[in-house]
Amino acid sequence: MTSALVLVSTPIGNLGDISQRAIDELIAADLVCCEDTRRTGRLLSHLGISTRLMRADEHTEHRAAGEVIQHLQAGQRVVLVSDAGTPGVSDPGQHMVELVLAAGLEVSSIPGPSAALAALVASGLPTARFVFEGFLERRGSARQKTLLAIAAQHRTVVLYESPNRTAATLRDLAEVCGSDRRAVVARELTKLHEEFIRGSLGQLIEWADRSIKGEVVILVEGAPPPGEPTDEEITEAIAAALAAGGSRRDAASEVAAALGVGRSRVYDLVLSSGDSTSSE
Ligand code: SAM
Repeated sequence: MTSALVLVSTPIGNLGDISQRAIDELIAADLVCCEDTRRTGRLLSHLGISTRLMRADEHTEHRAAGEVIQHLQAGQRVVLVSDAGTPGVSDPGQHMVELVLAAGLEVSSIPGPSAALAALVASGLPTARFVFEGFLERRGSARQKTLLAIAAQHRTVVLYESPNRTAATLRDLAEVCGSDRRAVVARELTKLHEEFIRGSLGQLIEWADRSIKGEVVILVEGAPPPGEPTDEEITEAIAAALAAGGSRRDAASEVAAALGVGRSRVYDLVLSSGDSTSSE
């Protein structure tokens, strides 16, 4: 095995989800960086692995990267794991990767469990394109800005949330998206009490009106695509285009292109608007 920093995904609940490649990397590594040495120590002892552990959590990631770079420059292989799932996804990892790459060294990954993907694929919501938002800001204008962006988003949105904030977040989402928007809460994925609650945001708020335990992913269906413009909207756009000058023919072409509707429909409305102030 050549020298590299390897990001290894670990189980998000069910230890059976560890892959053979993940085990091989953990055995072969000279050093395993992790958020919590006790927690990862338990995983390694469950697997019968005794590789040296070093803490690299959100506070120590930068400092740990310096040491990791020295190991890599000495030709060693270093693994980075997080407490659960894929490191770097709402978990430490990104900064270490940036620093290792900046030092001209190799980075690789062993894919595996990720709560976002496990929730998405079984949610029943569109999966072809999706947006991962991670944890919402806790409060203030930054949270409101993200909520509004989610409401306007046409792709499925995936959010991480703590159980005790789930009800409030569902209420905030319903406020901006409307309570009819489809959504899913995926709870305790891969564990004994795994469940998917599928419905409208309004129904999920009712479901959340009790104490929620365990880990939670929230998914929200994308906003519906904008509908065909009405005749009134087209007529208004025609009036604006005519007021800006130009012929009725030009106004029709301009409005058809801007609103994405057929030119003949627009031209019929130009004629029926009876505007006689503009020339052909
Ligand atoms: N890096 C991890 C990953 O790849 O999924 C995510 C870590 S983030 C700190 C923890 C959040 O992930 C939790 O608050 C929850 O939103 C989600 N999560 C993790 N495990 C989960 C599980 N078993 N079921 C549902 N959500 C989970």
